[in-house]
Amino acid sequence: MQLPRALEREFNPWLAAEARFNEAATLLGLDEGLQKVLKSPAMEMTVHIPVQMDDGRLEVFTGYRVQHSLARGPAKGGIRFAPDVTLDEVRALSSWMTWKCAVVNIPFGGGKGGVICDPAILSQSELERITRRYTAELIDVIGPERDVPAPDMNTNDQTMAWIMDTYSMHKRTTVTAVVTGKPLNLGGSRGRVEATGRGCMIVTLQALRKFHIEPSQAKVVVQGFGNVGGKAARLMHKAGMKIIAVIEFDGAVYNANGIDPDALEKHRRETGSITHFPGAESIDKNEAMFLPCDVLVPAAKENVIDSRNAHKLQARIICEGANGPTTAEADKILNEKGIFVIPDILANAGGVTVSYFEWVQDRQGYFWNEQLVNGRLEEIMVNSFKDVVDYAERHSVHNRTAAYMLALDRVAFAIKLRGIYA
Ligand code: GLU
Repeated sequence: MQLPRALEREFNPWLAAEARFNEAATLLGLDEGLQKVLKSPAMEMTVHIPVQMDDGRLEVFTGYRVQHSLARGPAKGGIRFAPDVTLDEVRALSSWMTWKCAVVNIPFGGGKGGVICDPAILSQSELERITRRYTAELIDVIGPERDVPAPDMNTNDQTMAWIMDTYSMHKRTTVTAVVTGKPLNLGGSRGRVEATGRGCMIVTLQALRKFHIEPSQAKVVVQGFGNVGGKAARLMHKAGMKIIAVIEFDGAVYNANGIDPDALEKHRRETGSITHFPGAESIDKNEAMFLPCDVLVPAAKENVIDSRNAHKLQARIICEGANGPTTAEADKILNEKGIFVIPDILANAGGVTVSYFEWVQDRQGYFWNEQLVNGRLEEIMVNSFKDVVDYAERHSVHNRTAAYMLALDRVAFAIKLRGIYA
């Protein structure tokens, strides 16, 4: 479907990232030259990788890796596999990683990767060959001290195991710390799989407390029932909140008295879909996001809250589980409506935070128990929430702007301290 020009601009992730950046940089009064440095990705790489398909055919796939910033440490960020990946998208996501790592104050810069492919029609062995060849092309730019990939859309712990193995074969030694989000018995961290959802739950609890809403009184709508939304729903339910609706690409379910996410997950495993779940009624997936609720968790994909639909939202709090679920135009509408937004670069930072723990554990060769991981994650998320909300109140700005200002300030400070190498 062809989008009108204005919406095309609104949906371009790099322009969206730029709009947020410009606002925060201006408010901070950052030097123009420094703004250029902060905005420009440090490195962008495009590779065209030949891969032999199962039927013997040769196919060429295009992959990207962007290192947005290395000012505070190695680049950090996921790799996504999707048919519609673009360089602009990877570039924007890599800059979001820079700001995300700075908001939670972990010692990484930002990076992101992507391969244009459709995992739905690829076999496991084709996916493995794509992953390994892509990794081989990136061999000189990734590494525990340079750039540490992780899972993102359509990639998982198996993908990370292949990357780790390919990198290790080239280096002639096992290097677990080159990627995070690995399987547990290959240097992965306890708590990593559910870390993003757990982070969402922790900051949501903080927001509820701020508004004096008892978790048991909180009605939650979750969009996306995958690694972020599914885990967030489960942990929010466990924390006493009521998950009144779950939205997926093929339908939505609703129960005013609350849905048990474990039972819903079981139903999906058995039937292949969340629809026709006996514990809830099926409702229109395009309308479910606009149900009155205390918390909306958009945890599916980018640009779902835009200038055309933001006015219809009836949530008190939005916890952005996905990266970039709200367009910059929609921000203004949400602000006018007085919705308390926990911005993506804070709300979903639990994943990269436990990635940091995984990297630390790999480098130490000493592994933590789950309680330690979750406790340290909670401490970082609670403190970061407080940092952002206090900053917003002190400077009379909205949470997203505050998160960007805080992050830009930290990265700018690192660049100033390091100086520019000539
Ligand atoms: N892909 C995740 C994100 O967008 C995790 C990145 C990481 O752990 O490095 O935050």
